[in-house]
Amino acid sequence: MAKDYGLIFPKKLRKKKRKQHKRSILHCKDGTCYLCMRLEGNYRIHAVTQEHHIYGGPLRSISEAEGFKVYLCLPHHIDGPEAVHNNQENRRFLQRECQEVYERTHIRQQFMSLTGRNYLEED
Ligand SMILES: [Zn+2]
Ligand SMILES: [Zn+2]
Repeated sequence: MAKDYGLIFPKKLRKKKRKQHKRSILHCKDGTCYLCMRLEGNYRIHAVTQEHHIYGGPLRSISEAEGFKVYLCLPHHIDGPEAVHNNQENRRFLQRECQEVYERTHIRQQFMSLTGRNYLEED
């Protein structure tokens, strides 16, 4: 019988050098749109979803490193009045949810030392 180590030593995963990336702490990339689900209870799979960094601008790299991101359909991302890039209320909704989820496993101080803000007690 030929030796076959295939099962014992599975193909080595190629290690890519890259900056810190973390999976979303809120949402798994499965074609659903986070806001369709949370705002409308709509779990449908979209042909296209885009990654959105919940805290943008100077906090974008922190969002990337900490997994503060979600996947959104185009109307909830960039296209139209409900899109988080046009709609402060929806943007803030995500910022609050993300802080809440983070604080299930961290203390507020940790959140604030990352973002410099407390979205749960603003406006
Ligand atoms: Zn959507
Ligand atoms: Zn975005």
